[in-house]
Amino acid sequence: MARVFTPTRAAALEALADFVPRAGSQYARDRNLDAGPGRDNVSSLSPYIRHRLLTESEVVAAVLGQHRLSSSEKFVQEVMWRTYWKGWLEQNPDVWLRYRRDVVELAQAGQTEAGDYRDAIVGRTGIDAMDVWAQELIETGYLHNHTRMWFASIWIFTLRLPWQLGADFFYRHLLDGDAASNTLSWRWVAGLQTAGKTYLASQSNISRFTEGRFSPKGLATTARALVEDPLPTRSPLAPPEPSPSGSRSGLLLHEEDLDAPGLLAEHPSVTSHNRLVAVVGFARADDRSPLGASDAVAEFTMSALDDGVARSGASGRPHVLSDTFASTVLEWAASENLNSIVMPFAPVGPVRERIDTLRAAVASEGVTLSTLQRRWDTLAWPHASRGFFPFREQIPRLLAQQGL
Ligand SMILES: Cc1cc2nc3c(=O)[nH]c(=O)nc-3n(C[C@H](O)[C@H](O)[C@H](O)COP(=O)(O)OP(=O)(O)OC[C@H]3O[C@@H](n4cnc5c(N)ncnc54)[C@H](O)[C@@H]3O)c2cc1C
Repeated sequence: MARVFTPTRAAALEALADFVPRAGSQYARDRNLDAGPGRDNVSSLSPYIRHRLLTESEVVAAVLGQHRLSSSEKFVQEVMWRTYWKGWLEQNPDVWLRYRRDVVELAQAGQTEAGDYRDAIVGRTGIDAMDVWAQELIETGYLHNHTRMWFASIWIFTLRLPWQLGADFFYRHLLDGDAASNTLSWRWVAGLQTAGKTYLASQSNISRFTEGRFSPKGLATTARALVEDPLPTRSPLAPPEPSPSGSRSGLLLHEEDLDAPGLLAEHPSVTSHNRLVAVVGFARADDRSPLGASDAVAEFTMSALDDGVARSGASGRPHVLSDTFASTVLEWAASENLNSIVMPFAPVGPVRERIDTLRAAVASEGVTLSTLQRRWDTLAWPHASRGFFPFREQIPRLLAQQGL
């Protein structure tokens, strides 16, 4: 039976506790198998980690509480892939801007009307594995990692569809849909991320790792890397913003980080002198794509936000704003007589775009807006400027810096 993802921290903690005993050598041995939706050889924690209903640091801490790093390093490395992708995109924001622009242009140019594309996203390519995986994605909001790799490879090299539309299809349906992990993984399969190095899905590999459930014939046997215009030089990481200066602050939570107690514990100045007087949340899953997000993603996002706001520990009337317009945020700020708004930092992606728009609007009303970064990110991201392998070497040191 497919796993049901309940969008609360309580459910996330239960899923973590259930998985931790399997995070050691068992995970290292079996993680690449995809036995279908009832799988328990991987954690399926990604929808929770992506919204920080669970933080990376507490997931790693729970695993290291029961396993040595030497036996759980495969799992820890996978969590660090997420951190790496986010740090890399943060330093290469043009990759995101290009992707966004390409999706809009491809959709407008009628690619979405092309028969092959339409067939692929409703599970009618005639390649049985692809068709089942598309349905699984639509119905469950989740795919196994290996399956994501096969799907992307067949999409790009066998069906010869634009990778950006495949990434968009994933992003609209994945409960864990993440600007960095999704976009950069698709680029990696296409041979853009590690220039010239592609990932080719083969019948034998699929048959072996699905334990014979699928054995698709007629797949491409070569994968020539896609090419693109050279990327601009790397951007510096944004320095941490100064603490909010206002005497009355409001916390505005969003779908990138729903662990207010943990975040505020890292920034005690925000709560000192009882300055934090109000908490609200806003989210909009449809910002993921010009084609919107699936109902399942929208529901997961809003329920997770409800849960995050309810757990914020704030006095007063913590609630979710009716929409994400700057004018709605300003009305809330005025009703609470705020002179400063604090928010969790949002990495490159749709929420960052929303915050950039908001920043300009609140400034003209004399309200300051500042974002709070996580120590986990500020320590790790500077090391994500090159490939994953130099980053991986830093993992023991990064864990030690986190007291793990
Ligand atoms: C084409 C493609 C698209 C992807 N899109 C996303 C996405 O939008 N969001 C997303 O979170 N992951 C994405 N991934 C990475 C990976 O497939 C998922 O994180 C993983 O399958 C989630 O399942 P799990 O929680 O059982 O992972 P586990 O194997 O149990 O790993 C534990 C955690 O580590 C992180 N993680 C694991 N593998 C990766 C990886 N390769 N890259 C980044 N983080 C990883 C996740 O947070 C995951 O929950 C993508 C991979 C591919 C190939």
